[in-house]
Amino acid sequence: MKHDDCLFCKIIDGEIPSAKVYEDDHVYAFMDISQVTTGHTLVIPKVHTKDIYETPAEVASELFSRVPKIARAIKKVYKPAGINLLNNNEIMAGQSVFHLHIHIIPRYGDEDGFDSKWITRDNEFSTEELNEIADKIHGAIE
Ligand code: AMP
Ligand code: ZN
Repeated sequence: MKHDDCLFCKIIDGEIPSAKVYEDDHVYAFMDISQVTTGHTLVIPKVHTKDIYETPAEVASELFSRVPKIARAIKKVYKPAGINLLNNNEIMAGQSVFHLHIHIIPRYGDEDGFDSKWITRDNEFSTEELNEIADKIHGAIE
């Protein structure tokens, strides 16, 4: 299952050191080396999967099922005011390591180092337009 030249596969195998938070048969969690905020944790599946598109449902299910308890532990220890979950896919979206991962980012305030602001386009789309978009996506679900 290990993918050659994958940093996170090497971390799972212990070839590259990491600060481990949690491990079981399916999932590994460790400190993000860049600690955008204190407690910033990465949760990854043990099976190599590049991104969300190529991830089988079972792998996604196992992966995400561990996130709540890790988030609760971070909340308990660091008492952040909030937590953001983030999963980047493809370079355009900021993915830099091509082994699926979920960032758990504790939030301590507006100036804590993480910025998830986006520009909303409220009321720019009519109900018909929203339905049209939804139908297109719905029609493409396999
Ligand atoms: P992304 O940009 O969403 O692909 O996230 C990759 C993350 O992996 C970044 O936040 C990096 O700081 C983190 N990272 C890179 N190398 C290591 C490493 N050796 N140990 C822990 N985290 C790492
Ligand atoms: Zn990998």
